[in-house]
Amino acid sequence: MTDYSLTTSLLEWYQSNGRNLPWRVKGGAHPNPYIVLISEVMLQQTTVATVIPYFERFIKRFPTIFDLAAANIDEIYQYWEGLGYYSRARSLHSSVQKIVKEYKGIIPQTKEEILNLKGIGPYTAASILALGFNQAETVIDGNVIRVICRLYHLTSPINTLKQQIRELAENLTSQQHPADYASAIMDFGALICTPQNPQCLICPWNKKCQSFGQTDIDLIPLRPKINKKEKCGNVYIITNNIGQILIEKRREKGLLSGLWEFPWDEKCLFENAIDTGLNISHTFTHFKLTLKIYTLTTTNFSKGKFISPKDFKNYAFSTLMKKVWKTYSTKNY
Ligand code: SF4
Repeated sequence: MTDYSLTTSLLEWYQSNGRNLPWRVKGGAHPNPYIVLISEVMLQQTTVATVIPYFERFIKRFPTIFDLAAANIDEIYQYWEGLGYYSRARSLHSSVQKIVKEYKGIIPQTKEEILNLKGIGPYTAASILALGFNQAETVIDGNVIRVICRLYHLTSPINTLKQQIRELAENLTSQQHPADYASAIMDFGALICTPQNPQCLICPWNKKCQSFGQTDIDLIPLRPKINKKEKCGNVYIITNNIGQILIEKRREKGLLSGLWEFPWDEKCLFENAIDTGLNISHTFTHFKLTLKIYTLTTTNFSKGKFISPKDFKNYAFSTLMKKVWKTYSTKNY
């Protein structure tokens, strides 16, 4: 049964305590859904604190959907550089081009149409409809899962609770103020019902929370353990006889697509390369990669291009490759 007092108390808490974020307005939908679209795509798998400076620079450079649709993808990658998950930038570009072409630049307002845009899944679609159009969509991310599981003291592994969590979250969603409610539940999870040390004593829900006063709060929600695979490979700093370095562009599909990089592979590519004794590690969503750094001097390459290190700033590199260069250049430049 719906408990409206929980929804009301959360909305009241939000009015006084909700975060002021550069992509947010309080008191209804954002007047510019383009802002919501950009922020929600950036926030996929990335924290609010990380996104803020990227969002501000991005919106300054691409203030309207038309600016972004007309931009070159390489420039967009540069503005995305460091945010990770670069396929998001490519999908966003393709989506805004579709919106400009098929909807005259106006973001569509039905779930079916939004889900037809590239890179937009059910969570992002619900967020855009709630925050950008004040539609009563329920947003469910890690924050909401944690809050719901604690509120109702659900202690089973979350993969067995999906339907129950959705129903409970839908029951709490405000029909009158869905935009504010979507922001409120996010902020509540980020500021009050935090993963560790939740602020139960000042929580607006503590009188009704079934976990209040229990000793297992920090263990809820129970997430099944994922063992990340470990992978190893080699990366090559290949110089020509005037000190330029070979970089290659990745294909526009899959891991780190469209970004520039030093040649690397999980198998040995070049027999005559010299081991620098340096290596770097980087953790992706599903695996951890360790690369040994090798050097090689040659001009005989059919792929990629040689550029001077001072020009690296003009190319979008992944965080992985930035780590490689930082580690290598600290010892060699
Ligand atoms: S009382 Fe504590 S566990 Fe319950 S919802 Fe509030 S902060 Fe979360």
